[in-house]
Amino acid sequence: MDLFYKSTRDSKVRATASQAILQGLSEDGGLFVPEQIPALGVELKELAEMTYQETAYAVMSRFLTDFTESELKDCIAKAYDSKFDLPEIAPLTKAEGAYYLELFHGATIAFKDMALSILPHLMTVSARKNQVKEEIVILTATSGDTGKAALAGFADVPGTRIIVFYPKDGVSPIQEKQMVTQKGDNTFVVGIRGNFDDAQSGVKAIFGDTVFKEELVYYVYAYARLFADGEIGENEPVNVVVPTGNFGNILAAYYAKQMGLPIEKLICASNDNKVLYDFFRTGCYDRNREFLLTSSPSMDILISSNLERLIYQLADQSDETARRLMKELAENGCYKITSAMEEKLKDFYGGYGSEEETAAAIRSVYEAVGYVIDTHTAVASCVYGKYKKETGDTAKTVIASTASPYKFTKSVMEALGESAAGTDDFELADRLATLSGVPVPQAVEEIRTAEALHNTVVNVDEMKQAVKRFLG
Ligand SMILES: *Cc1c(COP(=O)(O)O)cnc(C)c1O
Repeated sequence: MDLFYKSTRDSKVRATASQAILQGLSEDGGLFVPEQIPALGVELKELAEMTYQETAYAVMSRFLTDFTESELKDCIAKAYDSKFDLPEIAPLTKAEGAYYLELFHGATIAFKDMALSILPHLMTVSARKNQVKEEIVILTATSGDTGKAALAGFADVPGTRIIVFYPKDGVSPIQEKQMVTQKGDNTFVVGIRGNFDDAQSGVKAIFGDTVFKEELVYYVYAYARLFADGEIGENEPVNVVVPTGNFGNILAAYYAKQMGLPIEKLICASNDNKVLYDFFRTGCYDRNREFLLTSSPSMDILISSNLERLIYQLADQSDETARRLMKELAENGCYKITSAMEEKLKDFYGGYGSEEETAAAIRSVYEAVGYVIDTHTAVASCVYGKYKKETGDTAKTVIASTASPYKFTKSVMEALGESAAGTDDFELADRLATLSGVPVPQAVEEIRTAEALHNTVVNVDEMKQAVKRFLG
């Protein structure tokens, strides 16, 4: 049966999967959502035998119904290959009473690789299917990790050009260097004098949005691995903790639950920009507050764009409600959901970690088991600790480990009590390797001596001109 997608802001807008992939954002400003969430429809015992690539096919074929089997399998094979430094693609590490699902083994060592290594292939096939002959322009805003992952995915892909806007003072030094050293004639990287929300609003005004179906795969895979390894029984409920910014990753976990995966609580972890924590407590989303720069910059976001997809679902797929609330957000910076919608938030638990608590979580996991986690994962780890204390819930729990600590060496080393003053990030990386026993990843080695190729920095109101200049 074919699955169609519709816009959160106008149910009459209907698209096939390949059309939705090509279009990114609906013309009415809405996001594409599946008309219904398909059931997983595969036995756990079968899933337990599958490789990551086979799991990806089992899950994604439910969503991309207008792709043929060979088209989809070909995309998956090209995406999840030796660009990842482990054949498992997304391994689980047991540490301190939780399972860390390591999503940073791809080319740019953050979880954005899970979706963005396959997106160029899906787009190329989608363009062919829809007889699109024009060049595809990918326009994206990044809080630090999406940018490099998208650049790596689209660099030198024929028929595409990619433009990335990042907050000039809002990313880690390694994140920035990864982006500005990007090769490929079809790539364009621009720093903006503003924060991520400014960048995302600018880009949304022009075109584009992120994907999430690809992120659902690793939750299914992780569950099946836990079962295969005898860590959980058949259909035993597990919790998932996700360090959250734009609400893409945790939304994928929510969809995985809707597909039938036995996920109990979806624990949404925020840093000091705790707009989502407040939302889960009060049903009120309010971005009218100071934007804070934290040690987990990829979560420094006050407008979580994918939350619109959850809102739509909570409102029983009412485009009218989504339209109204998003209008209120645009005009007043806040909205309140109805009590009926609030009732359905029970699946979620919102928490946040302060800067100090985040650093303490890095230290505590390291001291307990010698395992070094990054600042974003540490926010999740800290929130999980608070959750356990508050609820007494002892269910097995998966923590989405979203980036390698090597992307945030300074914050991580300082959290471990190491002095980072006056040391450059690569020297710190070498010291981190000694301390953690994990070698410096290739992604960091390859930028150690690379030359910066992108030096453009613009004001927020100059983004449009920058795009025009690049596209000629
Ligand atoms: C993007 C990102 C997040 C936040 O993910 P969302 O899908 O935007 O909620 C968390 N951690 C890291 C390392 C990221 O790159």
